[in-house]
Amino acid sequence: MEKFHRRIYLDHSATTPVLPEVAKAVYDAMTIYFGNASEPHFFGVEAKKILEQSRLSIANAIKSHADEILFTSGGTESNNMAIFGIAEGYYKKGNHIITSEIEHPAVLMPIKILENEGFEITYLPVDSNGIVDPQDIKNAITNKTILVTIMHSNNIVGAFQPIEEIGKITKEYNVIFHCDAVQSYMSSEIDIDKLNVDLLSISGHKIYAPKGAGALYIRKGTRIVPQIYGGGQERGRRSGTENIPGILGLAKATEILMSDFKERNQRIAKLRDYLRDGVLQNIQDVIYNGHPDKRLPGNCNFTFKNVEASDIVSRLNEYGIAISAGSACKSASSEASNTLLAMGICPEYARSSVRITLGRENTKEEIDYLLNVLPEVISSLRNKNSSYEDRDKYFIF
Ligand SMILES: *Cc1c(COP(=O)(O)O)cnc(C)c1O
Repeated sequence: MEKFHRRIYLDHSATTPVLPEVAKAVYDAMTIYFGNASEPHFFGVEAKKILEQSRLSIANAIKSHADEILFTSGGTESNNMAIFGIAEGYYKKGNHIITSEIEHPAVLMPIKILENEGFEITYLPVDSNGIVDPQDIKNAITNKTILVTIMHSNNIVGAFQPIEEIGKITKEYNVIFHCDAVQSYMSSEIDIDKLNVDLLSISGHKIYAPKGAGALYIRKGTRIVPQIYGGGQERGRRSGTENIPGILGLAKATEILMSDFKERNQRIAKLRDYLRDGVLQNIQDVIYNGHPDKRLPGNCNFTFKNVEASDIVSRLNEYGIAISAGSACKSASSEASNTLLAMGICPEYARSSVRITLGRENTKEEIDYLLNVLPEVISSLRNKNSSYEDRDKYFIF
């Protein structure tokens, strides 16, 4: 079999390639429209115009208003801003926060810090498909609850959360609702008022724009305390000279992805289903993790029993195929994904699970290549691990 000749990228939940049209816009913003948006001369005015047009593009994409969009350095900063900003803004009302066990570290770590500082945290479980039960949120809310933070879709198994139902509950109980929509933005329709969310995080590099640019939607009237102080940019909510190239890239990618939204996501989901069926038909002892259809169009997550996920990743890497043994943030450690464990998957199976995430540039031919290579990779790793096989025989009784 041919080795090393290919570069097939199937890790779009970790990051995406910047679109050429986006890169061109970013290049122009760096070399031509490079002014400081706070300056009154024409260089500054041009930059300011790009900034405000970009803000409008993002606002339109989620059916909100331009003055409700705050630009940040990405999903991590947006989540930190939302969580710490609300904790500081509403601490007089209470110290209780509700989240789930399957959130991204950029939510769970700030929450941990608050917990150490004395906040009460409710970590909601998920079902075996990785989905939170809105009823649990209703039951968890007390008169001290100041924030509910639940992701729009999960980055490991792609599970869409019942955001609209949760939004109805938080609205009824008058609790702020933050939603990490980094994975969903441009993969699933987001209508701010329909969802009743008050804060929503998005990130550029997950949607074919550059790294280091993101946004936080903040509903008008939400009391959020700034976390970065200085020159008072972004109406005092987030100081620092605006990253016009990154912001324009985020807006440009949004406009391009909005233009073929349905067609693209349907095509990616169809290719994903083709991959899923091919794997399940051609390889034994495989589990397809997550919900059958309430999931991101590009997400596949498989447990290949009796194989280490990291071995699969490195073997496919030799064939020029890039996939993930969990999330980028966790791959460095041998720790099993918190999402899979929360779904009730045993640690052994969790460590045998890989994530394959498709994007707009993937072709059927690339998936055929993967389907061609994968059965051989799995069976050779299983043969190597014969001790696993022997042990499995004892379970057959
Ligand atoms: C990638 C990701 C983030 C972090 O975004 P960055 O822009 O990389 O900081 C946050 N939440 C989710 C769900 C993500 O997938």
